[in-house]
Amino acid sequence: MAEQIAIGVDVGGTKAAYTAANRSGTVFAEYTDRINPREPALTTIGTLADGIRRVIREAGQPVAGIGVACPGPVDAVAGVALNAVNLGWKNVPLREALQTKLELDVPIWLQNDVNAGALGEMVFGAARGESNFVYLAVGTGLGGGAVVNGHIVNGANGWAMEVGHMSLNPKGRPCTCGNVGCAEMYISGKGLLAGAAEHLLSNPEYRDITITTHRVLDLAQRGEPLARKVVDEAAEALGVVMAWCASVLNPSLIVIGGGLGSAAYESLVSGAMVALRARLLPDVHSALRVVKAGASTSALGPAALVWYGLNAAPLADA
Ligand SMILES: [Zn+2]
Repeated sequence: MAEQIAIGVDVGGTKAAYTAANRSGTVFAEYTDRINPREPALTTIGTLADGIRRVIREAGQPVAGIGVACPGPVDAVAGVALNAVNLGWKNVPLREALQTKLELDVPIWLQNDVNAGALGEMVFGAARGESNFVYLAVGTGLGGGAVVNGHIVNGANGWAMEVGHMSLNPKGRPCTCGNVGCAEMYISGKGLLAGAAEHLLSNPEYRDITITTHRVLDLAQRGEPLARKVVDEAAEALGVVMAWCASVLNPSLIVIGGGLGSAAYESLVSGAMVALRARLLPDVHSALRVVKAGASTSALGPAALVWYGLNAAPLADA
């Protein structure tokens, strides 16, 4: 029997992932291809249109809509990618250009990748049934998304929940954004490497080895005290970020996702919970659970935009 599907497209700096999934997250087709960030935006959008056509063809079901996630802030209402640095995109009218290339009479929604990840958790993952929750994407950097009273929070110009650049320490590590002590200089891949440079490399034994985030986590797990210190600082920073989010939004759930957040969840969560508990009012803490992300692929986030958008369409804030 024909079942409606949502198409999700996760546009990264070097590749795009496509999925076709129904409302319950059953995947009918998946596809990944490469993106060349040096190409003009319109050429890349042509590649995306080809990928979308392919996944629709393979799924062989009627399409309810298309959700697209890209890095950086977006104007979700106008469908414009405001500043996707890795793709060299500034004010790219992604929805309109995609609609022109596709010539398909289906709605298209656009969100930034972290907000789409949050909605992916709400529709398909660990935040099913929740209407007040925070999603933290711990990857190379640190991003956040918040759902408040069932709605994703975009902010005045798409920068809401940019938690990676909240300064934890005005005398802390310098950040690429120009500020100092930003959260992502402690809790992210970048943060673990900055911590390794600060602590681990004070031991001459480690000066000549290649330090990767995987290496830091592995050394910490094996009890190396300097690596342990790096991971403990990262866990504490995660707890502080969670405490800020919880104090502002009083969520019932914080979902930890992102490549590093999912892979190192067990190494980070107990230290983070100690730092969280120490900073929260008891009633805020008692309402809150912290869990690992559940959505299985990155393209399920943008696919969730479709089901969310169809439900929330009259408010036009998806
Ligand atoms: Zn920063």
